[in-house]
Amino acid sequence: MDPVEHASIPTLAYLALSNEPTWGGALALTIGATFPDLDAFTREHRSYLHSLLFALPAFALAYLSGNTHALLFSIGWLSHIFLDFFTGVIPPVYPLSRRGWGVEITARGGPAGFGIGLRIVENYPDPRHDYELNIGGSVALGLVTLAALIIRLH
Ligand SMILES: [Zn+2]
Repeated sequence: MDPVEHASIPTLAYLALSNEPTWGGALALTIGATFPDLDAFTREHRSYLHSLLFALPAFALAYLSGNTHALLFSIGWLSHIFLDFFTGVIPPVYPLSRRGWGVEITARGGPAGFGIGLRIVENYPDPRHDYELNIGGSVALGLVTLAALIIRLH
């Protein structure tokens, strides 16, 4: 999943669910939702910042602090891990174990019929490498999110 999708999906949920959304809240959520991919600059993508060993204590501290922006940042961080769980694997206790899990959901359709497939994927984080992403669909999603932000927060 690319950064635009990671930013857009929780931001749209925030705009839909919050009684009083703010630009600062949306910014904190967006930064939290995208920064875990800084892991791509370490030895392995989806490592430390994709581990629940770091994300859950950060959420607990943010919750206990009572700071709304810290809480939105940590919710964005957890949303990143949740979304990556469906597009590969996340290593829940990295660095104690490099093993990761995810869910692969497939849909097929055609003359032979239709079907949905679901399987648990177990793997290790990808070693660091260059990425080339097709982001056309996510740019459209990002533009819809930006329009929703402007309409809801003007
Ligand atoms: Zn990620």
